[in-house]
Amino acid sequence: MKNFLRLLALVAVCSSLAIAATTPAAPAVDKSKFKSGGCCDKAEKGGKPCAHPCCVKAAKDSKVCEKCNPVAKDAPAPAKDAPVTK
Ligand SMILES: [Zn+2]
Ligand SMILES: [Zn+2]
Repeated sequence: MKNFLRLLALVAVCSSLAIAATTPAAPAVDKSKFKSGGCCDKAEKGGKPCAHPCCVKAAKDSKVCEKCNPVAKDAPAPAKDAPVTK
């Protein structure tokens, strides 16, 4: 009976290892950083990672490609309120 329990424990360990092996540790990429309408955003919506080499490289580091998804900067204020000097 002891052997059976040991076997059971071994099976449990093996199956948990198998699960760990089959589920790759998904890199936590902040998808909210994807530029909307950008290559990565489109790929994400298509259910697959972006195929751009630069994006693949960034994704491996759990990052978002900065080249294709530049950090949104404050858009320059429109000059409609500029004082008219005339
Ligand atoms: Zn991309
Ligand atoms: Zn890129």
